[in-house]
Amino acid sequence: VTRRYRYVGPRRLADLASSNIERFEPTNQAELAAWLRTQGHDHEVTLTYVVTTLGCLRLSDRHAEHVACAQGQPVFGAGELSLLLDGAEVEVAAVTNQSTGYCPEPACFTAVAQALVAAQLEAPEGFAHAFVFRRCPECEGIVIVKDDEFECPTCALPLPVQWNFAD
Ligand SMILES: [Zn+2]
Repeated sequence: VTRRYRYVGPRRLADLASSNIERFEPTNQAELAAWLRTQGHDHEVTLTYVVTTLGCLRLSDRHAEHVACAQGQPVFGAGELSLLLDGAEVEVAAVTNQSTGYCPEPACFTAVAQALVAAQLEAPEGFAHAFVFRRCPECEGIVIVKDDEFECPTCALPLPVQWNFAD
């Protein structure tokens, strides 16, 4: 079952959903290569991405918030995508689930890989870095768990072992 992730980030950023930014859903490498050039990229680029609930890869500039890229909608995955551009060919250098707006689980990789393949890109074996997010039950802050230390750095209290953004 593919989990739908809804926006869980700060409310002050939620208004960016309707912002007028570039959003692109590539269906093949040549189309993607052409779009990247219109965006001023000609070799290497890291972008913000989401996977829409239609299973499409959607790209925006890396400085764009995921909530803006997704237009505030739920997603199957979100993070950063690094691409290498060579003529009309595009190669995935790395992909992560780094999105503090959606805090997707590492398990969203399956949906991300499917979306990459649907865009005729070769998916890597897994996330270059799999981010583990939890919401602190005490301060409600979003915490990136490092080194399996399930503790809120602000409150020094334990974090749930299970992903806890569903409610
Ligand atoms: Zn806390």
